[in-house]
Amino acid sequence: MSSHELLEVECPSCRAKQDIVIWKSLNVTRDPEIREQLFTGKINYFTCGSCDFEGFISAPLVYHDREKKICAQYVPVEYLEDEEYLKQSFTPDAEIRPGLPEDTARIADRDCFRHAHIVFSMAELIRYVLFRDRLLQVFQAT
Ligand SMILES: [Zn+2]
Repeated sequence: MSSHELLEVECPSCRAKQDIVIWKSLNVTRDPEIREQLFTGKINYFTCGSCDFEGFISAPLVYHDREKKICAQYVPVEYLEDEEYLKQSFTPDAEIRPGLPEDTARIADRDCFRHAHIVFSMAELIRYVLFRDRLLQVFQAT
């Protein structure tokens, strides 16, 4: 399942507060349209209602495509300063620790999560998914 929560976010520019839906994980097998939202920059994107500021929210995001066996995780660079987050989220070898909402998923999925491809920007997350799609296209064509 995809999961999200409604959070109050403060605009980094003018400090005005507004509620925004923050996605924690995207399961595109069950929600194909969520993939389109990611590609068009609508996921975790903040547009201030009081000033001109807009930009991606610094929140970790898991991308999961069960059919294509794609697991990727976006880790905001700022989170590398957070020792607690790092200890709770990863092993020393950069495998992802259990504890994600998808924990109840099948074992094969769990393995996929453990070895998720880690990226440090939303743009890179989108590029990585496009890369995986492209590989599938190329190999299916032969
Ligand atoms: Zn603002």
